[in-house]
Order: sequence, then structure tokens, then C-alpha cells
Amino acid sequence: MAEDEILLPGATDLHVHLRDWEESYKETVSSGTLAALSGGVTTVVEMPNTKPPIDNPEALSKRLELLESDSYVDCAVHVGLPRELQILSAMRREGAIGVKLYPKDFPRLREAFRAAHDQSLKLAVHAEDPEALVQDPVGPRAEENGVKEVCKVASRVGNVRFCHVSLASSVSAIAELKSHTNGVSFEVTPHHALLSCGPDYRQLPPSLNVRPPLRRECDRIAMFETLRNGIADFYATDHAPHTASEKESQNAPPGLRSLKFAYPLLLTELQDVAMACRLYCERPAAYLGETKGKIEPGMIADLVVFRTRTRPDGQEPEANSNEFDIVETGPFVGRRLGYKVEQVYKGGVLSYSSETGPLAKRGRREHSA
Ligand SMILES: [Zn+2]
Repeated sequence: MAEDEILLPGATDLHVHLRDWEESYKETVSSGTLAALSGGVTTVVEMPNTKPPIDNPEALSKRLELLESDSYVDCAVHVGLPRELQILSAMRREGAIGVKLYPKDFPRLREAFRAAHDQSLKLAVHAEDPEALVQDPVGPRAEENGVKEVCKVASRVGNVRFCHVSLASSVSAIAELKSHTNGVSFEVTPHHALLSCGPDYRQLPPSLNVRPPLRRECDRIAMFETLRNGIADFYATDHAPHTASEKESQNAPPGLRSLKFAYPLLLTELQDVAMACRLYCERPAAYLGETKGKIEPGMIADLVVFRTRTRPDGQEPEANSNEFDIVETGPFVGRRLGYKVEQVYKGGVLSYSSETGPLAKRGRREHSA
């Protein structure tokens, strides 16, 4: 490796919405996982609100087949809460690793927690209270109430991962839950840690529409701090792409495209390589029970060679150097990255190079240990 290159583990993103199926015009499994691979992300965990949704064994089986044939990276799948909870055991056998709960599932929180626990499935929650969402879809009340409600239920059984936490008050509530309950964790997204809404949260441009919404600067700083000090368990993108014209329209659907730049962005903004790897490689891989995420003997060799801006003499290169990516589209447009993915190895095999692009599809299902 060259002097300005560093070798880091491949990242594991616990929260992505690869589109495909009826939404192939937004993204396919192939294009989404290629974005992941080229950004140094070698494992992704899918969410079930695809069209059609992954909430029954047939849909799950079709999805796993598609991932197996089309994905450039390793994949695992959360399923949606089925109407008949007994089919969760069939979906567990088929290869689901967890259940994702949405605001619409709140009336069934208790039974969902019990069922996931009984089936040894992980539980991930979008913790916004559905009634508060109806009253005010962009205010903080929905998450405040939602996190409180989930904490109440989780204090009995544990086993919960809070998705895309966006408020300082949520971090406090989850810390309190963690102090007496096992198996509690939370994710922080790049957008909630790096972007805020300004003084009036109703004035955001439609292109930045996302759920939960971007918050005020004080909450944005709090979320960034949870990454900086490692209080957040995971950095996860909540990658949820739409077409450029959809995001430019006045009624832009919620969701942001972020998988390709998430890892170099984290390294650049955090300026703490060890913590970045803990949040985006080591902890999420351990959560899945995978022997990867660290560069150690016995670990699967999912590895990324990054070129860094910082030269051996500690000097930054010329400011107008265009060797490094400036994010061209999406929520982080215009940000200059201090890290560039040069090569990605999967299982010790070169799978992507910045010069030649992807070398092979090596999609594989991940099962929790
Ligand atoms: Zn999501």
C-alpha cells in the first residue's frame, strides 16, 4: 500500500432500503449494493417495507433469492410484522434475522416484543407514535412519545434496537432503559448527525424530507456527539433512495440516498478512525453474530483500502485537488471527502477497484449465528 493509504474493515450497515421490485425505477438490488460496495460497505441489512412488503414467507423467499443472485455484498433481512404472528417461525427458518416495527404496529407492541423474543428474532423499531404523527408529522412529539412507549414495553423483555434516533431527549430515555435492561441499542444516521433544519422545522426544502425529520441544531449536535463518544451503538444510513425528479418535486417522498458516501463521510467528519470503525464495522457485525468488522486473525477478510488526504508529513494537499470525491448529489451535496475508496476485498478476494469498478457479484445471505 502507498504511504497515503490505510486498510480498514468493510462496513456493515444495519439499516438500508434497497428498492427493486415495483420500485426498480428508484434503485435495484444490483445498483444499490454496487453503491454500497464502492463505498466500502460489504454487508447490508434490508428493511421490509419494499413493494410488495416482506411480511410473509413467500415474499421473504423471493427476496432472499433476488439478493443471492443480484447483490454485490452480503445481505440480511428484517421482516415486517405479519398479521398472524405464528408465521414468524417459518420466516425465521427461511432466513429472516429480525422483525422491524413501524408506527402502524404500535397497537401491537407488546405481542410483537413477545413473539420476537420467543422466536429469537432481533427487533428493530421506528419509534414514532402514530397518533402524534397524525397531529404533527414533523414536530418532535411523535418521537418523544414513541420512544417513551417502546421503553415501557422493552423494560420487561429487552431485545430492541431503536432505529434512526434523532432527539437528545431520546438518547437520555434510551440510556435510562439501558441502565437496567439488556439487549438495548440504537442507531444514528449520517443525516441526523450532520444536517439540521434551522430555526423553523417546517421550512425545510422538500428534497430533505425524511422520517424522522431533520431536527434543530441542538439535537443535531447531540446526535453527532453520540457518534463521537460512542454512546450511539451503531452508525446506520437508513438509505432510502428516490429518483431525482421525485426528490425535486414539492411533494418529495421521505427518504435519502446515502449508502455510497456514508463510510468516507463518517471518517472525514468524525476524525477518529477507531471510533468510526467501531460504529460502522465492529459493533454492527458483532450484533449480527458475524466474524467480521475487525482486522484480526480468524475474522472474515472484508477489507477496504482508503486513500487519505492527510499526507505523511501531516499537510493537507492542495485545496483544489480534485483527486477526492466531492459529493455530487443527495443530502450531502458539496461536502468534500477526506477518504477515497481505492479497493474493496470480500472474503479476501478483490471485489472492487476504483480503477476498474466491480469485479464480481458475490452476494450471499447472512444468517445470524
Ligand atoms: Zn428506514
